Amino acid sequence: MIPVTKPYLPKVEEFENYIRSIWDRQWLTNNGPLVNDLELKLKNYLNLDYLLYVTNGTTALQIAIKALELKGEIITTPFSFVATTNSILWQECEPVYVDIDPETFNIDPDKIEEAITSKTSAILATHVYGNPCNIDAIQNIADKYGLKVIYDAAHCFGTKYKNKSVFEYGDISTTSFHATKLFHTIEGGAVFTKNPELLEKMAFIRNFGYCGPDTFSLVGINAKNSEFHAAMGLCNLMHVDAILERRKLLSLHYRENLKRLKVKFQSLDSDRDYNYAYCPILFDSEELMHACMTKLELSGIYCRRYFFPSLATLPFVNHKSMPVCDSVVKRILCLPLYDSLTIPDLDMISRILLRVQQYPVRNSTKQKDFGGLIANRIEVSINGHEKKIN
Ligand SMILES: *Cc1c(COP(=O)(O)O)cnc(C)c1O
Repeated sequence: MIPVTKPYLPKVEEFENYIRSIWDRQWLTNNGPLVNDLELKLKNYLNLDYLLYVTNGTTALQIAIKALELKGEIITTPFSFVATTNSILWQECEPVYVDIDPETFNIDPDKIEEAITSKTSAILATHVYGNPCNIDAIQNIADKYGLKVIYDAAHCFGTKYKNKSVFEYGDISTTSFHATKLFHTIEGGAVFTKNPELLEKMAFIRNFGYCGPDTFSLVGINAKNSEFHAAMGLCNLMHVDAILERRKLLSLHYRENLKRLKVKFQSLDSDRDYNYAYCPILFDSEELMHACMTKLELSGIYCRRYFFPSLATLPFVNHKSMPVCDSVVKRILCLPLYDSLTIPDLDMISRILLRVQQYPVRNSTKQKDFGGLIANRIEVSINGHEKKIN
């Protein structure tokens, strides 16, 4: 079986060393030494002054909205993971969707201004698949209307915008260190800001709102992460450069292999250092996307319709049709991409895709039989070798 992603795991001995140290200290959580060490090493690695390690990417978003005291409407993207919209609703704000750019799949800055009302307090945009939004354009609009900006940078570990970590941008950026992300701490996440006062406020919020041994000045939550999670992060951070290299190599190999496939890759601008966190392909038609997904599944290869559905169609929001997003969600597919994916497996996935395009299964019986014949001639084994049985 080839899944769409596999969590990276360091050597168990590396993890064990950290776990032993936890036993020695008997300090399990509450801002322990491994959490501190991870925060320090992340700041060094990302070249950032401020960040806070938290329990996950969703609480990171909630803390960001809370710390900025956002009210009313928040302009956001319909093309993201459900946590982006959920965190807005959880903070009792209203998501106002703005359609996406058909090339980058990020929120379209040209459509933001027309969505601004007197109730708008912020823009919460996702850097989709790790590809940064048009940050300059968004910031210009925010400045013009006095809005706050939060970036959901859950996909962005290692991404740079104009030679700086993309986490630097916006009033607050958030990320996720969930097991499925490029860099992970099993569960985990972080908030980033350049504003020290905002950082302090978020630190209080992360810890129940404590701002002295017995004093509380604001409503907080428990978003502290544990020594065990930090241990995984410390291990993985040592390998993250290799992980980034490997993703790039695999992604470029996919792009090369699939040149003849009638699909569009996400377009990447030159002033951005992309991390190749995902390998999305956009098909010409929903039909071809389904045909490819089904064919791959028959061979034990699992892609993911990510993101699907459009967040503007969730049952608990005001439905809004978003022509570009509605069309993209129907045709997008993320191909398997993870550190231990082998080139032979990747080549096999590519061949299957190209073959489906060449011999599409149509509705007429004749062509259906033909498609079936082709399908039966090739049996694909899970370790990446094709076995011709005819
Ligand atoms: C993964 C993800 C999140 C949520 O992160 P968790 O750590 O799983 O809570 C939020 N936004 C986006 C875009 C994500 O991909």
